[in-house]
Amino acid sequence: MSGFRTLDDIGDVSGKVVLVRVDLNLPMQEGHVTDTTRVKASAPTILELADAGAKVLLLAHFGRPKGARHSTMSLSLVQGAVEHVLGREVMFIPEVSGPVAAQAIGILRPGDIGMLENTRFWPGEEKNDPEFAKAIAANADIYVNDAFSAAHRAHATTEGLARILPAYAGRSMQAELEALEKALGNPRKPVAAVVGGAKVSTKLAVLKHLVGKVGHLIIGGGMANTFLAARGVAVGKSLCEHELTGTAEEIMETADKAGCTVHLPYDVAVAREFAANPASLRICNVHEVGADEMILDVGPQAVEALGDVLKTCRTLVWNGPLGAFEIEPFDAATVALARTAAALSREGSLVSVAGGGDTVAALNHAGVAADFTYVSTAGGAFLEWMEGRELPGVVALVK
Ligand code: ADP
Ligand code: MG
Repeated sequence: MSGFRTLDDIGDVSGKVVLVRVDLNLPMQEGHVTDTTRVKASAPTILELADAGAKVLLLAHFGRPKGARHSTMSLSLVQGAVEHVLGREVMFIPEVSGPVAAQAIGILRPGDIGMLENTRFWPGEEKNDPEFAKAIAANADIYVNDAFSAAHRAHATTEGLARILPAYAGRSMQAELEALEKALGNPRKPVAAVVGGAKVSTKLAVLKHLVGKVGHLIIGGGMANTFLAARGVAVGKSLCEHELTGTAEEIMETADKAGCTVHLPYDVAVAREFAANPASLRICNVHEVGADEMILDVGPQAVEALGDVLKTCRTLVWNGPLGAFEIEPFDAATVALARTAAALSREGSLVSVAGGGDTVAALNHAGVAADFTYVSTAGGAFLEWMEGRELPGVVALVK
C-alpha cells in the first residue's frame, strides 16, 4: 500500500534543505541521555537524505516548555547523543527561523546535518500557527516527517509544514504506517485483538472501535474485571470500575451484533496482597474469588484457550498486558500468550503488531519483542490509531 508519499517519491535532493521532523524527546537523567531508541529509529532516514546530498535539518520538540525558552529543555542537550548514534557531526542552531537560523543554514554544505532548537519554545508550534510554520519553511525546500509518535498532534511541525512544503514520510514513519495498515487497515482474517492494562476508562474508545473490526476481542488485565462484574461475577477487592459495568455490557452487545467473540478469563490468579509471590496466591475459577482477594492475572487454562484462538487467526493487534506483569508470578499469562504469538509470527502464520508503553516493556520482559511483526513505541499515537482516529500528521502526507 502506498497512500502516502515516501522518500521513494522525493526525487533529487542534492543541495536542497530538507527539514526532517523526528522524535528527540529522549529520556534524560542528571543531564545525560539514557536511551537513544528514538534516534536510532530515524537514523536511516537522516543518513539516506544526507548521503543523497541534502542539507538535513532536524526538527523536534523536547519536553513541555509551553512556548518559552528553558535552558533545561534545549535540544543542544541531546546533540552529543544524536551525533553518537549517527556517527556524524550535527550543527546545533539555537533558533528555528529568522536571520540567525537562515545564516546558519546558509553555511551547511550538501550532506551536512543541522539541528534546530526545541520547536515548543515558540507558542506557534502547539497552536499550529501558519505564520510560525511559514517562517520555518522559508529556509527550507522539502519537509519529511519521520515522527509517527507525534503524528496524533496537529502542531506546526507535525502538520502545518506539510501544508506548505512538499511533504514525505520518512522510513520509520513509513514502516509504522505499513505495519498498522497490515494489522487493522487491510488485514488478513481472522483478526484477534488483545486489550489489557489497568482500566477500561482509558481504553473505552479502543474497545468500541475494535469490536466492529475484529473477530476475537481478548480482554485481560484490570479492565477484564469490569467486564466480569458486568456479567455478574463477584470480583472481590480487584481493580474494577463498577460505574462502567453498563458501558462494558454495551460493548459486549455491540460485539455480539458485529459477530465479534469477546474472550474473558474463566480462571484467574488471585492474591490478598499486591506483592511478589505472595503467600495468599491461588488459581481459581472466576466464580470463586473471595471477598478479600484481588484478580491479578489471567489463569493458566484461559491462557491456553487464548493461545488456541490465536492459532486460528492470521492477524493480531495487542495493547495492554493481561496481568500485573511487573510482579511475579502475575506476568505468567502475558508472557505465555506473548510467546505463543511470537512462535506463530516466526512460523509466518500470524501478523502481530503490538504497542503501548507497558506492552512493549512486557514483550521485552518475555523476550519476544523481536519476533513480533512490528512493535510500535509510539504511545499516544498508537492508541489513537487503535481508536480508528485519523492522525493529522499522517493525513497531511496522503497523496
Ligand atoms: P500500556 O502502557 O501498554 O497501554 P496500560 O498502561 O493500559 O498498558 O496498563 C498497564 C498496567 O496495567 C500495568 O501497570 C499493570 O500492572 C496493570 N494491570 C494489568 N492487569 C492488572 C490487574 N489485574 N490488576 C491491577 N493492575 C493490572
Ligand atoms: Mg501504560
